[in-house]
Amino acid sequence: MITINENYNKLQASYLFAEIKNRTAAFQKANPDREIIKLGIGDVTRPLPQACIDAFHKAIDEMADSKTFRGYGPEQGYEFLRDKIAEQDFRARGADIAPDEIFVSDGAKCDNGNIQEIFSTDIRVAIPDPVYPVYVDTNVMAGRTGSYDNGRYNGIIYLEGNNENGFIPALPDEKVDVIYLCFPNNPSGATISKKKLQEWVDFARENKAIILYDAAYESFIRDKELPRSIFEIEGARDVAIEFRSFSKTAGFTGIRCAFAVVPKSCLAYTKDGTEQSLHALWYRRQSTKFNGVSYPVQRAAEAVYTESGKTQTKELIDYYLKNAALIRKEMSTLGFECIGGENSPYIWIHGQTDSWEFFDRLLNKAGVVCTPGAGFGKCGEGYIRISAFNNYENVEKAMGRIKEALK
Ligand SMILES: *Cc1c(COP(=O)(O)O)cnc(C)c1O
Repeated sequence: MITINENYNKLQASYLFAEIKNRTAAFQKANPDREIIKLGIGDVTRPLPQACIDAFHKAIDEMADSKTFRGYGPEQGYEFLRDKIAEQDFRARGADIAPDEIFVSDGAKCDNGNIQEIFSTDIRVAIPDPVYPVYVDTNVMAGRTGSYDNGRYNGIIYLEGNNENGFIPALPDEKVDVIYLCFPNNPSGATISKKKLQEWVDFARENKAIILYDAAYESFIRDKELPRSIFEIEGARDVAIEFRSFSKTAGFTGIRCAFAVVPKSCLAYTKDGTEQSLHALWYRRQSTKFNGVSYPVQRAAEAVYTESGKTQTKELIDYYLKNAALIRKEMSTLGFECIGGENSPYIWIHGQTDSWEFFDRLLNKAGVVCTPGAGFGKCGEGYIRISAFNNYENVEKAMGRIKEALK
């Protein structure tokens, strides 16, 4: 008899987006003439930068000619892309990262989900709440948790975000082995200072733990004091793995290109305490299970590092940041406490009521869809997330309606 991995039965149905869809559809049915504006989107809405499109077309033409055709590429990614990433994203910022420490992939979601495979099943896992669900669910699938009770999995150490700590969780007061951090954060939009991040790195070093640092929204950072990479922090090279993506940076959510940075000095241990290189393990894992990102996609990603690519991606992010600034300004003026929206595309708003109640109010009174914070974890209750991924005209219209409805 074929039996299943019963850890999958512990997973909770993804109720959040289905419920948003149901409530939105019900409202539209009852109000067929109302135009609904969606500010719940966690996906980019603007087209690719021209520099990426040009490089993409050119690479496809190369594939049409026997002299320039390419078959399987290196599993770790082409050197032309890894060189530019190492130089411009890291070395130019004082982070000592070499091209062979970069692993190009088809998404930070896959990388964040797959990385836990190289760790033992009985490690203690610390995960923020509220959170991007991938970190939790992939550990549930791997059997690192017990059952789900009262909105939480037994066995996970939850790092709580709240108004007092500004959604920068405090260090755990127990021993943990792996720590997931994401800054600028999805869903809260919170950012972390170098000083605070240094505390996490020091904690990881003291505990022989690893930090899995999701920097998918790094390109939204405008404040020059904020770290863009964990590798700008002293000592991080030994205890951190970073995940980046071209998804939000350059509109690649449908194209698929990302990368993980696994420094060669980053160590973990066998049960008897023997040091093991995480770089070697990840290399083995990727070269066994992954066959690389397509050549044209890597050429399109490379174009992000050209002069025109840099200008165009900055314009792209500036566009969303202008939306975010408007959302933050209007919601603050209405008296709501806001986090994020200055160095991130998400504004996390304390609704002074329950998340779904606030969601319903915005939908029914203003025809605006947001994302209820409760869907991201227990600590998200009482908050909503408004996303800047839309066009400016819609954001303006939505804010006008919210102002009218809630004043
Ligand atoms: C969007 C997003 C990513 C990027 O995922 P891709 O698979 O590269 O598209 C990673 N982490 C978080 C928190 C995100 O919101």
